[in-house]
Amino acid sequence: MLLKTSKSRLQVARCPPEVGGDGTCLSYGDLLLVNSIEHADWLSQPAALWVCEGCGQAWCAAYHLTRIVRTTDQLLWMRPWFSSQEYHPFSEMQSRQLFDAAILVERADWDATRAVVPSLPDFESFAVMTDHDLLHLWLQDRPAYAIPAEWESFSHHLRINCIASDPLEISKAISILEGHMSDLSQPPAALIGRFEELPDDRRYYNTLYFDLPEGLEFRTCLSIPPYRLVFSGRLCFQPAPTCTDLILTSG
Ligand SMILES: [Zn+2]
Repeated sequence: MLLKTSKSRLQVARCPPEVGGDGTCLSYGDLLLVNSIEHADWLSQPAALWVCEGCGQAWCAAYHLTRIVRTTDQLLWMRPWFSSQEYHPFSEMQSRQLFDAAILVERADWDATRAVVPSLPDFESFAVMTDHDLLHLWLQDRPAYAIPAEWESFSHHLRINCIASDPLEISKAISILEGHMSDLSQPPAALIGRFEELPDDRRYYNTLYFDLPEGLEFRTCLSIPPYRLVFSGRLCFQPAPTCTDLILTSG
């Protein structure tokens, strides 16, 4: 689930006593992201941001492993993903070892926090978000009851499980999503832009409906590609420069 920075801010505090040392922890709202900024491994992919309370090593804990990428002025923290279904380097891990949320941190918030804790990496040191990151974020955000994790077969399941689509026809909506997913078979391409909040207006998104007990509706794609996928029902990635046909504001 994506959380919006307007409701949460980064906060730093002294390490919890059980971690020891004189380090600093980093929180986002109620979520403790990093228990020792100074001892975390920020530069690996994924980053290991949780330090073992026994020995002080990040990779000993291997908890909350996180992929961090940047938009023009936001950091996206997301669950790590893997480019191949066959090669999954962390397949032995339990789900709690992978960061199971997605949050956006505004650059201004990051820079202000870094002014307090200079050992935080510079904003520019994080990789630029790619189309693969965006699509995997969408797959992580999808209703699992309707769309399986295997993206190669997701459209097949969509066609079986989706009973209605509005305002697009089902076939049109699914073909837009298939078009996005086909980018996963190409090398990743950098995306320049930022996440924006959608107005609460049905013109700006398409809703899929499922005849399944776990859930009924899912706001997903917009009628105008590219990368107008909807996340958590209220955010979309807006490429830069902003298309003049659709001006989104964060208000
Ligand atoms: Zn340890």
